Amino acid sequence: MEEQKPNTISSFQKAQNASITPVPTRSIALVPKDRQQTEKIDFITNGKIDKWELRDAVSRRFAPIVTQMSGKERGKSIQSCGRYVLSKREGVSYSEKGISGVALCRSWFCPVCAHKRAIELAEKLERGIQNGLIDGQQYKFVTLTLPTDVDVSLQQALYAEALRLWKEKMLTYVKYEKRKSQYGEFAFSSSYDITIRDNGTHHLHIHGIAQAKNLPPDGILQALWNKSVVKSGELYARKLTPKKDACYIDDIRADDTRRASQYVAKYLGIASEVSGGTALKKNSSITSMTFGDLLQKLAVQTPLKKWIRSYKSLLEAFQGNRWTQIGRTMSKYAEMTEPEETSEEEEEVESISISWFSANSISSIRGASSKIIKEMKKNPNSPFLKKVRATNDELNSIYGQSKHFSNNDWERINKMWEETFGSSSKWWGYGVNDGEKNTS
Ligand SMILES: [Zn+2]
Repeated sequence: MEEQKPNTISSFQKAQNASITPVPTRSIALVPKDRQQTEKIDFITNGKIDKWELRDAVSRRFAPIVTQMSGKERGKSIQSCGRYVLSKREGVSYSEKGISGVALCRSWFCPVCAHKRAIELAEKLERGIQNGLIDGQQYKFVTLTLPTDVDVSLQQALYAEALRLWKEKMLTYVKYEKRKSQYGEFAFSSSYDITIRDNGTHHLHIHGIAQAKNLPPDGILQALWNKSVVKSGELYARKLTPKKDACYIDDIRADDTRRASQYVAKYLGIASEVSGGTALKKNSSITSMTFGDLLQKLAVQTPLKKWIRSYKSLLEAFQGNRWTQIGRTMSKYAEMTEPEETSEEEEEVESISISWFSANSISSIRGASSKIIKEMKKNPNSPFLKKVRATNDELNSIYGQSKHFSNNDWERINKMWEETFGSSSKWWGYGVNDGEKNTS
């Protein structure tokens, strides 16, 4: 095992990789035979999910999702994620590290962005914890659960209310005159996590990191959570009786930063799941899936309606609601040492620049972007990449940089890229019916 280097991306990624297990392809085979996809799905290589491929495959199916509750379109942002070229003049650029110059959706339900945001957040929390520890703060990991068997929107509402009440109670407790000097300020950062059952229903829970100069005894945190649960239930006319481990507490030792960073990654739930991590499947008697499993089920040729419904109701439940929250004082600690953005950017990385109209065309060819990125990793001068460069150059010489294109022009551009990639650019156009009618 290598020595831990705190505050670097690599140390975090190492920690995160440690919690990742290869994603078995069996989750696709679970789809009944007549429902199995006929197209090749290649977003899993060497047991690792290709997040970009998965995003493309999944977003194709949500395009667009119309929710019944509001009649509004959901999942649209994910559909356009990584496809909208930011600057016509600059186009986009591909390197072994990915694609730059395109807009990302930043949704927690997007395979690419959830992963990205989770890394950013985990790094922030990791810095916060490290600085806080130096400043004499104490930390504990807290998992909060509710006894609910209701739809995910109501679960979300119950959790949000219980969490709000609990934080309020905790603040009141530590601020109580006689205890103030003993405990100091209380801060809590949290993220939802989710498991999905075989019937498509959801089970939410909350993972969080509590911070104070001295944290009150575990029994206090637990008792106050139980009270908050009951109260939140009353608000929604539900009689909730908290289970024994409804507030599960785990210590972080001051000398254990490696473990802390691992926890941060792990406890961001959805992110590690999307990137192929494992969920905390404590109760093995219940077969439950991770969010990543759900995405894979959506990505097959003919996803079952229940998985589409499952995803839809999840989007709906969290529309306008936050997936994560960072405590203010924890945020302050994190900002004490902002990451340096030097070495990585100065490092010369081989890249291919593609004009915006070429990029538009490429993004409508299935797996094309991923293919370029993969090839860049292997050999930036491969015959295939030479062909990509040549096609781009040729198109540029024909159309220049900023012309307004007619339909005929588009067709020709698409044709040239289709020849280069050997597959159709109409991938997006031929929508695979998601089995449900849009109600717009
Ligand atoms: Zn995205």
